[in-house]
Amino acid sequence: MEKGKSKSVFAQAQSTIPGGVNSPVRAFRAVGGEPIFMESASGAYMTDLDGNQYIDLINSWGPMILGHGNTLISDAVKEAVTKSLSFGTPTYAEVEMAELICSMVPSIEKVRMVNSGTEATMSAIRVARGYTKRDKIIKFEGCYHGHGDSFLIAAGSGAATMGEPDSPGVTRGTAQDTLTVAYNDMEALKATVAENKDEVAAIILEPVAGNMGCVTPVDGYLQAMRQLCDEEGIVLIFDEVMTGFRLAPGGAQELYGVTPDMTTLGKIIGGGMPVGAYGGKTEIMDMVSPKGPVYQAGTLSGNPVAMAAGLQMLRFLNENRSLYQQLESTQQKIVAGFKSNMDKLGLNYSINAVGSMFSIFFTDQSVKDFETAKSSDLEVFGKYFNAMLERGVYLAPSQYETLFLSTAIGEAEIEKIVTSNYEALKEIHS
Ligand SMILES: *Cc1c(COP(=O)(O)O)cnc(C)c1O
Repeated sequence: MEKGKSKSVFAQAQSTIPGGVNSPVRAFRAVGGEPIFMESASGAYMTDLDGNQYIDLINSWGPMILGHGNTLISDAVKEAVTKSLSFGTPTYAEVEMAELICSMVPSIEKVRMVNSGTEATMSAIRVARGYTKRDKIIKFEGCYHGHGDSFLIAAGSGAATMGEPDSPGVTRGTAQDTLTVAYNDMEALKATVAENKDEVAAIILEPVAGNMGCVTPVDGYLQAMRQLCDEEGIVLIFDEVMTGFRLAPGGAQELYGVTPDMTTLGKIIGGGMPVGAYGGKTEIMDMVSPKGPVYQAGTLSGNPVAMAAGLQMLRFLNENRSLYQQLESTQQKIVAGFKSNMDKLGLNYSINAVGSMFSIFFTDQSVKDFETAKSSDLEVFGKYFNAMLERGVYLAPSQYETLFLSTAIGEAEIEKIVTSNYEALKEIHS
């Protein structure tokens, strides 16, 4: 595979962009090798600067659930562009968007549009703090909620439950208000809540985690968390930036039948444009400015072109619900193929999957939290990633990212993915 153009553009990028990329995981540092620069994409395939084609299994980290170049969405964008790229005034599309979101997502009675998942989670915890008049939040090890200061916190060491900055530039003051607990461990969560009685404003989690690879909640976990929050007056926030509109029209909360107090959205909600949103119970959302005292604003929030793309995407998903079964069946065929490949090769790796999200971990432990996710052999993952890339299958360039399917992946692509998996596994174990 010739990659000369990507290589030279990456070299050029180093002098004006930190690390040559605008988001770190794109740089391939976790897998070795150099990033591929894309030129165009259509359906299930991306084409790079050198003309190589790849089956896309990241789909822009989720948004492209219908594959690339869907004309319903691009036509809506073209039409919106003719009216104006931005007004900075309210527009009717924002009202339609709010109504559609409220009708699709069980927990959302009112919603505010923002421009990214990061903005959504930052704003949601501010509102939860304003509403409860408490300062602390609890998050889970291995969950990702964007790059807001309050979330870039590592678990404190020893007996201290206080968090520690996980990035230079995050202050100790901020860190002390974020408590971190292991995912899928209800006892640890209860203990942390008890130690911080009447101080916890919100518990925030990915109801299905996708940022330590795909990790699903154990039976009863989300229900128990719901009950705990009710008893303790804590705002339960589901960060559905990834799972929203992906696992079901109403996200993971619909799939698992657990209704949080607040929900954060992103990725699919913009149909490929930069959009995020946070919403929840009326009583909580009415805390937001100008209705309430909690300040939050955005010059380009509810941007008309972004709304046009997102509206088309959500309408399509809402009206074509059978596509969720199609996505699940695609996932099941791929996972079954991988398992049969491993049987043939005498390998026993761990696969987690739900709906159109799945991950292979290079460990024989079952992966249920960040600790077990870390048991995956990252060196083997790096080899596997590059072996798949060489065969024209583009995986997430990190073990700790889930893969995302799109409806554009058909039988031919499934076969190619499964065959490539066999060859790649065989190669790295020869
Ligand atoms: C991607 C992601 C975010 C951050 O969204 P950005 O749009 O990248 O800021 C937050 N939470 C979860 C669960 C995500 O997957």
